[in-house]
Amino acid sequence: MESSWRDDFEALDAQVYGHPLAYLDSAATTQMPRPVVERLSAYYAHEHANVHRGVHYLSERATDALEAARAHVASCLHAGDPCEVIFTSGATDSLNMAARGLAQLLEPGSAVVVSDLEHHSDYVPWQSVCEERGARFVLWRSRDGRLDLGELARLLDAHPVRVVAVTQVSNVTGTVLDLHAVAKLAHEHGALVVADGAQGILHEGVDVTAVGVDLYAFSAHKMFGPTGTGVLWGRRDVLERMEPARFGGGMVDEVGDEATSWASLPLRLEAGTPNISGIIGLDAALGYLERADVAAMRAHERRLLAYLLGRLEELPGLRVLGHPERRSALVSFELAGLSAFDVAFLLDKRGVAVRSGHHCAQPALRSLGVETCVRASLAPYNDTADVDALVDGLLQLSRLAR
Ligand code: PMP
Repeated sequence: MESSWRDDFEALDAQVYGHPLAYLDSAATTQMPRPVVERLSAYYAHEHANVHRGVHYLSERATDALEAARAHVASCLHAGDPCEVIFTSGATDSLNMAARGLAQLLEPGSAVVVSDLEHHSDYVPWQSVCEERGARFVLWRSRDGRLDLGELARLLDAHPVRVVAVTQVSNVTGTVLDLHAVAKLAHEHGALVVADGAQGILHEGVDVTAVGVDLYAFSAHKMFGPTGTGVLWGRRDVLERMEPARFGGGMVDEVGDEATSWASLPLRLEAGTPNISGIIGLDAALGYLERADVAAMRAHERRLLAYLLGRLEELPGLRVLGHPERRSALVSFELAGLSAFDVAFLLDKRGVAVRSGHHCAQPALRSLGVETCVRASLAPYNDTADVDALVDGLLQLSRLAR
C-alpha cells in the first residue's frame, strides 16, 4: 500500500540512525506538506503585519488572509457562519475556553458528564469548573475502549446534566464515537454537547450542522497545519451565552472608567494578537486536504490500519488495548517484558517514531488496566513499509525480551 501523498511531506525523507524514518506519531503531531510550509514562508517574507486595527496595506492584507481562513474553516466544518469560528492556540485552549465560558450554566447540584476516554484537556477543565461551581463531575465509563450509549442515557436520566463533553476519537484506543447519537440524547435531556475533535478532524472530518454538537474543538497541528493554532467552533447562540475567559485588546467595544462592553463575535472571544501565521497555515492545510482528495486518504488509512492490526497479531507478547466497534487511525499496545518507554526508545534506534507514556489520558489508561502504553498512529502519508518497520522492530524486541 503505497501512499500517493508521501512525496508532499519532505520531513519523511529523513534518515534516522541509518534507517528511513517510519513516522507513526501523527496523533501527536502530523507533518506539514510542502504547500503549507511554502505558505508560511511567503506570509513571513511578504505579508507579515498585525491584523484588524491597521489601515495600511500590509495590515489589510494580513487581515484579509485571516478572515478568509475563518470563512474557509467555517465552510470545511459545514458551519453556518464564519463568526462561529473562534481562533485559539489549540484544542486545549479551545476546551478550556468552552469550560470557562459555559461555567455559569453550572448551578450547584447540576452536572457535567465526561467520558473516561477523554484527553486531559477535555477532562481537567471540566473538573475545575465543576469544583468551582459546586456541580457534579460525572464519569461516563468505557469498557475495553467502548462507550455505551445506553449508559449515557442512564446518566442523563439520573443527573441534571448541563454539558456532555466527549471526544470524537480517543487518542488512546482510537474509539470513534457516534457524535450525532450523543448530541441527540444530550439534547433530549436539555444538555449541551462539547466535542473534542483533535483526533477526529483529519481522520473522520465533521459536519457540525448535521452532527448537531454545540461546540467543536481542534488543533491545526494534527491536520497538517502548524502548532500553536486551533479552533473552537460553536453554534452562534451558544457562543453568545459564553462569558469571555480572556480580556484585553481586540475583544472590547467600549472601555469605560468603570465598565467595559464587549465586541461582537468572533472578536469577543479572541483577546490579543492571534497566531496570524498559524491561522494562515491552517487555511493552507485545509486547501491541501481539499486538493488531495480526503475520501481517498481516509480509505488508504483504513486499509493500512487493517494491515497494521493484522500484522500485530504475529507478535506473541503483544496486547492491543481496547477493542472499539469502530477504530480510527491508531492503536495502543503493551509488549510483555518491556516497558512502554523501552519499546519506544529502542524502536527509535531503528528509525520508527512511536509514542509511549500515558498519552495525557490517565483515566483512559486506568480503565484499560495499564499505567503506560505504546501508541502507533497513522496518517495518509504512511505506507506498508512504515508498518513493516514497526512490526519487524517489535518482533526483534520481543525476541530480546524472551
Ligand atoms: N484532545 C485529544 C483527543 C488529543 O489527542 C490532544 C492532543 N494530544 C488534545 C486534545 C490536545 O491538543 P493540543 O495539545 O494541540 O492542544
